[in-house]
Amino acid sequence: MKIRTRIAPSPTGKDVHVGSVATALMNFAWAKKHNGQFIVRIEDTDQSRLVLGGEKKMLETLESIGLHADESPIMGGPFAPYRQSERLSIYKKFAQDLILTNKAYYCICTPERLGEMRQKQQSLKQMPKYDRHCLTHQKEVIQKIEKGVPHVIRLLMPEKIITFHDLIRGDITIDTNNLDDQVLLKSDGFPTYHLGVVVDDHLMEITHIIRGEEWLPSTPKHIILFEAFGWKAPEFAHVSVLRNPDKSKLSKRKNPVWTSEYIEKGILKEALLNYLSLMGWSHPEGKEVFTLEEYIKVFDIKDVQTTAPVFDPIKLEWMNGMYIRQSQTSNLKSQIYEFYKGKYSEEMIEKTIPLIRERIKKLSDYEPMCEFLFSTPQVYEVDFGKYKDLLISMHQSLMLVADWKALIIGAAMGELAKDKGVKNSEFFMVLRAAMTGKKISPPLNESMELLGKEECLLRLQKLR
Ligand code: GLU
Repeated sequence: MKIRTRIAPSPTGKDVHVGSVATALMNFAWAKKHNGQFIVRIEDTDQSRLVLGGEKKMLETLESIGLHADESPIMGGPFAPYRQSERLSIYKKFAQDLILTNKAYYCICTPERLGEMRQKQQSLKQMPKYDRHCLTHQKEVIQKIEKGVPHVIRLLMPEKIITFHDLIRGDITIDTNNLDDQVLLKSDGFPTYHLGVVVDDHLMEITHIIRGEEWLPSTPKHIILFEAFGWKAPEFAHVSVLRNPDKSKLSKRKNPVWTSEYIEKGILKEALLNYLSLMGWSHPEGKEVFTLEEYIKVFDIKDVQTTAPVFDPIKLEWMNGMYIRQSQTSNLKSQIYEFYKGKYSEEMIEKTIPLIRERIKKLSDYEPMCEFLFSTPQVYEVDFGKYKDLLISMHQSLMLVADWKALIIGAAMGELAKDKGVKNSEFFMVLRAAMTGKKISPPLNESMELLGKEECLLRLQKLR
């Protein structure tokens, strides 16, 4: 069997959520592991919640981090269109098919009537559920619809106990008696999520639906719909949603949730995917750092855990630091160059890499750490007031250094500190601040070698 997985995001945010990337990653891996296809379908049927530009950004981010879709609104594919708002006639036809087979019915109840009904049910402590008023008057209802009265199509929910198998959670049994007659087609001609998702998963030949656990209550409704159409349902797997380290639900208020915010902070896509792959799953050999190719090889849906995975941005940064330390110089150079959009020359970046590789955790740490190598400091963390004489001596002594190499610079300065009777810690704090503006910097002697003799002398002169 050809394996086909999908994600079906709704563009209701300004980008793709990191939790959705974690789910997308499993879908991607499951498809690739079996030489199958990974599909991205846009579910934009709730027009009132659409965020302008959200879809474009979402698709761009997924591509840019390497979760390439085989079929999508951009890639096209054999089942195009992949955007639900462009498939309205398909849903309408399928909803009408269900009417013909008595699996669905028309409803013209007004929001006012539905509101009153719900209130009554609440006061009687009954479960809020459509009372099938229109089902008992279908002839009249159809006549009114022909005259232009707004209407929806509702599923006639059968009464039965259904059991389905979740690849992560095992067998789940529910009594459909507790389920409402779902609206399938809304009065604006758009399908509801339930109709759209089932029709598309069937037509697009999806074999595995791996999605967040928040969709678990919808699954019985989908299974009933697959049965009503006479279609075989795909396999289901519901993954737990990501939590903050304090176990609260991931939300914008505590940490960034949009994927591009992490990329813009200088998290490498390889590190992000590696970290997200560990959300609810662990490597069979207990490894923490591995490539996407390796993940695809060893990933198995059945190994996914149901415990809520903790998404900790601090741990992600730590992992990113590991990736930076292990990157080849040429790779890291291009990543820094691209991150700063060509602001610093590749040649100079390359020279700085040995100084900073061990010290940065994310690409955005590079500039604050290295900007002194590209321009003279404008602010200083040290007050040089009482060090004027020392600065003059440093200048004089460095003038005499002929071979401008880190070791020789260091030796000359060590000697001067001794001569002057200044403690090394204080002496180098002053020299470091004079060169870099800061009390903490990459290794000083090496930085001075990179800056060059002339520039170092100029920086000292400026402060005398
Ligand atoms: N449109 C739903 C979402 O926004 C898709 C849920 C599903 O995967 O079935 O995530």
